[in-house]
Amino acid sequence: MRTFGGFTSGDGALFYGEVRGAEVHCLTSAPWLGGQSTGEVLQLRDLRIGLPVAPSKVIAVGLNYAEHIAEMKRTPLGTPLIWFKAPSSLLAHEGTIEIAFPEHQTHFEVELGIVIGRRAKNVSTADAFDHVFGFTIAEDISDRDLQSAEKQFGRAKSFDTYTPVGPFVHTDVDVSDLSVTLRQNGEVKQSARTSQMIYSVSEIVAFASDGITLLPGDLILTGTPSGVGPITRGDQLEACIGEWPPLRNFVAECPSRDRVAAN
Ligand code: MG
Repeated sequence: MRTFGGFTSGDGALFYGEVRGAEVHCLTSAPWLGGQSTGEVLQLRDLRIGLPVAPSKVIAVGLNYAEHIAEMKRTPLGTPLIWFKAPSSLLAHEGTIEIAFPEHQTHFEVELGIVIGRRAKNVSTADAFDHVFGFTIAEDISDRDLQSAEKQFGRAKSFDTYTPVGPFVHTDVDVSDLSVTLRQNGEVKQSARTSQMIYSVSEIVAFASDGITLLPGDLILTGTPSGVGPITRGDQLEACIGEWPPLRNFVAECPSRDRVAAN
């Protein structure tokens, strides 16, 4: 397994690097674009972890675990259900989720994230993995009030900070049967395995690429298992997949509510 990330140092500029133990080996460009080592080696502890992905689009899959379909009182569709989340909703490791509408039920959803590595359009399930760069941990923060009130899911799941992702992207890793866990304030709320997904990674990539060009760096969220629940100000969320370093985020309320209320 190799591990890549996005980092900022003193000047705040984002750069990409490969994590090797306590070291970060800097890259000339994003790893999914073939970034090569610059030769510079920094210490991970001296860096701030930024977004490990820079997608042109974020695709989300819904209803991909049977127990989650049951808890949402939905029925299987017989085909993957996808929608788009705004890339501006991405949030890095240790960033703060800002609840846009504190009066609404807003839920956590931990998900395996796929990072595309090669341009893909109309790929078969057999070829799908040739177009995958790696995998990451993601959350699909969801405003349930708006999700049920509106016909499309995109807005309810695209508010700024509603897609935590990271801390890193992992390549050369078997994701067919990894644990998927979410802890809220230290308590396990979601616990499943990727082998319980109804549609596999290759089926999802093939379906998403059917008539839609997936570009290197694009991110696909593969659906959440059961156990979703509300977040409130002051929460700490920790999302884990397998033995990868966990994704940690905090929860606050959006400070711009006065402007929203005035609209
Ligand atoms: Mg989801």
